[in-house]
Amino acid sequence: MNKLTDYVLAIRTTGSPPVPDVAKTVDLVPGDGDTISSVIDGLRASGLTPADFRARVIFLAPEGISGLVPYAALCGFAGRRIDVYADGTVLEFSRLDRGEAFVDAGKPSEFLVWAQVGGPTAEGVLTVQLGPGEHGLVSPEAASVIRYAARLRMVPPDSARDALAMFVLVSALRRRADDRFPYLSTGTEPVPVSKEDPNQGVDLETVRREAARYRQEFRAARKGAEVVPPVPVSARNRRLAEANAVDIRELLQRLGSSPDERSLWRCPRPRRHRNGGENPSMKVFGDNRTRCHHCDPEKVGPVRLAVDALDITPDEAANFILNSDRVINMCAA
Ligand SMILES: [Zn+2]
Repeated sequence: MNKLTDYVLAIRTTGSPPVPDVAKTVDLVPGDGDTISSVIDGLRASGLTPADFRARVIFLAPEGISGLVPYAALCGFAGRRIDVYADGTVLEFSRLDRGEAFVDAGKPSEFLVWAQVGGPTAEGVLTVQLGPGEHGLVSPEAASVIRYAARLRMVPPDSARDALAMFVLVSALRRRADDRFPYLSTGTEPVPVSKEDPNQGVDLETVRREAARYRQEFRAARKGAEVVPPVPVSARNRRLAEANAVDIRELLQRLGSSPDERSLWRCPRPRRHRNGGENPSMKVFGDNRTRCHHCDPEKVGPVRLAVDALDITPDEAANFILNSDRVINMCAA
């Protein structure tokens, strides 16, 4: 049984519980706008890279079901299930089997375009239930419906732990080459009118695919391929990129740090240092990134540094960096 301290990196989102004993945390905070594009924006702004997932990573789920969308994005980006800390417990989803093990009752005789799992029985939509509690309690009939329905909407239970466990189980049951994610539904949507009916809740499978596509950008960048069509950049990402282009030494100074004669900087997170950050521990690199050998497992840019040092969201960090005293200086001049 894993403990939180076994993880190298914890990923937080809005409402995640505080955890004092994880080495390093990263924020995945969805921005404004529609659910799917805002969570992908949040993923971009988090600064997470595929390499981060080579370490032991855990997602810190907020109470209730609001962690499902960011969790779906993370799994899509990582290309695997991520372990979760929810309601005070570590859930080792990465160790679950692939879902083929669940016996079903065969393909339903009629082609099922839409079905629902969980929630009260919906009018006009075949609804099945999972057994209570731990995985394994899926009747063969329910497994058939979950596995073979072309589209599945999932009405999760209220608790984070149960909702995430249901999501992982349902996705594993639907697995083809990868886990296939259901729609996140309230169970009160109208009867679906088509296979691609957009009014059936949040399509978590689209979240997964968009996040997986974002992962591909790293591979393309590594190959130096320029044949990949450019991805349109949202106003928010432009702002984050602008903030990341501001001289990181300027940001360090605004955070109260200064260079010593060897061009090493004091860490603006002195609380994490045993001696209060007395000894300069940060090196600035030529790519406008910096790293504290105590706090940062890798080099960080201005936005990530401000997020970490000031405990704010990436958007707030961009505001902080861009609305700097440079503006004041300009007014004074
Ligand atoms: Zn430090």
